[in-house]
Amino acid sequence: MIFDTHIHLNEERLLSNLDQYIKEAEEIGVKKFLCVGWDIDSSKKAIEIANKYKNVYCSIGVIPTEHKQYEIGGKTLKELESLLTTSSKIVAIGEIGLDYYWEKEEEIKNKQKTIFKEQIDLANKYNLPISIHSRNSIQDTFDILKSCPVNQSGVMHCYSGSKEMATEFIKLGYKIAFGGVLTFKNSKETKEVLSNIPLESIVFETDAPYLAPTPFRGKLNEPKFIYETVKYASESLKMNFDELRKISFHNSCKIFHVKEND
Ligand SMILES: [Zn+2]
Repeated sequence: MIFDTHIHLNEERLLSNLDQYIKEAEEIGVKKFLCVGWDIDSSKKAIEIANKYKNVYCSIGVIPTEHKQYEIGGKTLKELESLLTTSSKIVAIGEIGLDYYWEKEEEIKNKQKTIFKEQIDLANKYNLPISIHSRNSIQDTFDILKSCPVNQSGVMHCYSGSKEMATEFIKLGYKIAFGGVLTFKNSKETKEVLSNIPLESIVFETDAPYLAPTPFRGKLNEPKFIYETVKYASESLKMNFDELRKISFHNSCKIFHVKEND
């Protein structure tokens, strides 16, 4: 069994053929999915999908790159909060965080920080974990999580920091998520992280339709391709494949408070 802890079934390219994508993933052992929102509309879609498919859970939130549509201090947060009551399958807030890859201006970085903190408050109000998007911003992300602790911690989605930083996030209770990037030739640092953290901190994700693993790199990432990532990880760790999927599945259910046998 595999838990895909970060997937965008709510993205158009997967949405158009959802039944088949989900079925194919289930056939290779994916037992649960966390469908992640990145803005208000995609969060609503994520909820719809989770309400329809038994094995799909969802998370809602506004990604830092969508800062333009986020209104600080009220409207956007209220909208998110009103969505929280519409489904019992919302198990996290996210994806939220900081992204300095696209935004270099100090003013925008500051707005992203405020947006991040507001959504952390929301997670704490409802006692939910968070799914974190952090790009070129690992130190600031850490500083915020340290100064605004999330009661239920969460997952570092598509983690791309150092192994030393990974250890710091783990100390705060976070799980480290590995996706297609792990299988890329040039991802030396990610491989190092994998082999240096405790097994209890490892979870997997596709981030589909983005970031397809080798040998599908550059193509549309299909939900079933998570198999390649988990297989790659088990080989790098010199571990039994089934053992690794079992442990990571357990870790994922635990962090999102989902029953393993539901
Ligand atoms: Zn994502």
